[in-house]
Amino acid sequence: MSEYWKDVIGGSKSLLVGLSITAKEFFKPVVTEQYPWDVPVMTEKFRGHIELLKNEETGKPKCVACGMCMRACPSGCITLAGKKPEGEKKKVVTKYILDFTTCSLCGSCIESCNFKAIDFSNEYNLASTRKEDYIFDLVKRLKEQG
Ligand code: SF4
Ligand code: SF4
Repeated sequence: MSEYWKDVIGGSKSLLVGLSITAKEFFKPVVTEQYPWDVPVMTEKFRGHIELLKNEETGKPKCVACGMCMRACPSGCITLAGKKPEGEKKKVVTKYILDFTTCSLCGSCIESCNFKAIDFSNEYNLASTRKEDYIFDLVKRLKEQG
């Protein structure tokens, strides 16, 4: 057999092997996430920026503006304020600003909170070239979430 036909047969065989692998993989279930069309499911331990949590019964923030998280933050990311409504024993948070540009997601703020009023969010899709887009008003965000 000439070299020419040896090459043709070898090339065809290799082509058929390649096509058979492609066909086999084509009918296998998809295991990769179709981002950005599918919203990824974050793992339980995923750390997005911190978020205020609300009391499910009252619908109000659990935060009593004690300031422990602000003092515990090593990066000085948190600025907050609160006021005590008339007749109430505890303060309610009126302002909670997170500067996410310097947050290291260390979790000290969450650990320091005795009221379980903050937690990491599942926010993964943050992209901006503007610094202002990483300054979060967490009271406003909580209200917007309903
Ligand atoms: S420690 Fe908890 S309750 Fe106190 S200000 Fe921070 S989030 Fe609010
Ligand atoms: S996660 Fe750490 S760095 Fe970020 S706000 Fe909380 S304490 Fe500060």
